[in-house]
Amino acid sequence: MAIDFSLSPELEEIRARTRTFVEEVVKPTEQKIHDERLQETDRKAYIGALIEMRKQAKEAGIWLPQMPKEWGGMGLGHVQLAMVQAEAAKSTYGPWVFNCQAPDEGNMHTLLHWGTDEQKEQYLRPLCEGTTWSCFAMTEPEVAGSDPTLIQTRGYQDGEEWVINGHKWFISNAHRANFAILIARTEDDPDLPQAANTAFLVDLPAEGWTEVRQIETMHGSTGHSEIRIEDLRVHESKMLGGRGQGHLLGQYRLGPARLAHCMRWIAQAEMALDMMVDRSLNRYAHGSLLAEKQGIQWMIADSTMELYQAKLMVLHAAYKIDSGEDFKSEVSMAKHFVANMLNRVIDRSIQVHGALGYSTDTPLAHMYQHARWARFADGADEVHQMRIAQRTIAAYKDTGSTRAATGDLPI
Ligand SMILES: Cc1cc2nc3c(=O)[nH]c(=O)nc-3n(C[C@H](O)[C@H](O)[C@H](O)COP(=O)(O)OP(=O)(O)OC[C@H]3O[C@@H](n4cnc5c(N)ncnc54)[C@H](O)[C@@H]3O)c2cc1C
Repeated sequence: MAIDFSLSPELEEIRARTRTFVEEVVKPTEQKIHDERLQETDRKAYIGALIEMRKQAKEAGIWLPQMPKEWGGMGLGHVQLAMVQAEAAKSTYGPWVFNCQAPDEGNMHTLLHWGTDEQKEQYLRPLCEGTTWSCFAMTEPEVAGSDPTLIQTRGYQDGEEWVINGHKWFISNAHRANFAILIARTEDDPDLPQAANTAFLVDLPAEGWTEVRQIETMHGSTGHSEIRIEDLRVHESKMLGGRGQGHLLGQYRLGPARLAHCMRWIAQAEMALDMMVDRSLNRYAHGSLLAEKQGIQWMIADSTMELYQAKLMVLHAAYKIDSGEDFKSEVSMAKHFVANMLNRVIDRSIQVHGALGYSTDTPLAHMYQHARWARFADGADEVHQMRIAQRTIAAYKDTGSTRAATGDLPI
């Protein structure tokens, strides 16, 4: 077997092009938006700046890296995508500018795999062109989102239509979405508890779909909505996948989507570590630079080692997806590890910056607020740990060794 971490000249060129674009177009525009407070003071100029970045990204050929070429994408595999996502997420708007942001990106994969030809043309095509938005509506306030078999939103059939009632919350992008992928319980007595739910495509706005509020979170009110669903009518042709396949579809969606989060989190952690080292080389206290103090070096060393582990885990999980192998375990371990690594590295970077790190003069405070949700969304830490342990125990029972559960690597 060949283990080769070098990039092909073609991919190296894509990575360099993405990095240059982020440095020369995205970051200066973000700075302008921040300095001139465009988002709050001049909505038209703000939207104009965003659209201009997208236009330039398309011209530069950095558009839709996660999708096949026939859908207007760059046709990259997951290992290759990791390079682009990790460059894009060095900025706040990068993933959106390249049209590879959550939740649209996960919804695109889902539609590509599960949609009928008609559904793909109607929903996937405009999403890929960047002219529509989407959301994925699964979590409910009344029951634990960690266990989708508990979903209470219900659908019953009425002729050619499904009538759906329920309550969802934390639905990212719902505020501006043109359509939703909605998960509802349709089966009363399924063979398996996991076969009770079905996914539906819902055109928005829709009668029976009401946005109650955008939920105020620790990083602001940024488009995670609470939704009331009352007698929402959806034609049967809008079912995505088959009856009872909603859970399967959700799991399918979450695999690559979780890994894409990890790729972006690596970028954020690398930024935090760069800033930590930079600050330690410029701050002087008690007779030496911070960089010369052992306590600071430990923080730098721990962060460096953890980031290295995170990169290897993500690359290996991506490799498994690309090879068509079972990737559940590797993605689960990567998601847990990278989310926690991200929180630790940003926390250390804030520590090294002192009061400056706590202020909003650097991006660290903002990054820290965003990073916190990574430990429970798209699978809480403890749920991943439960599944990882189950697989390790099963591997031992089956083969007398835990090797298959630790990445099934050749060492
Ligand atoms: C910013 C943000 C964006 C989001 N976007 C979306 C979206 O677009 N669409 C959507 O549908 N949802 C979205 N969510 C919701 C997210 O997916 C859920 O928060 C997540 O699935 C966890 O569900 P929950 O919040 O109900 O927590 P619960 O399931 O109630 O879990 C709470 C805690 O209980 C513990 N726990 C749960 N199960 C176990 C177990 N088996 N063993 C041990 N401990 C356990 C864990 O510590 C967990 O953190 C978003 C959330 C946030 C914060």
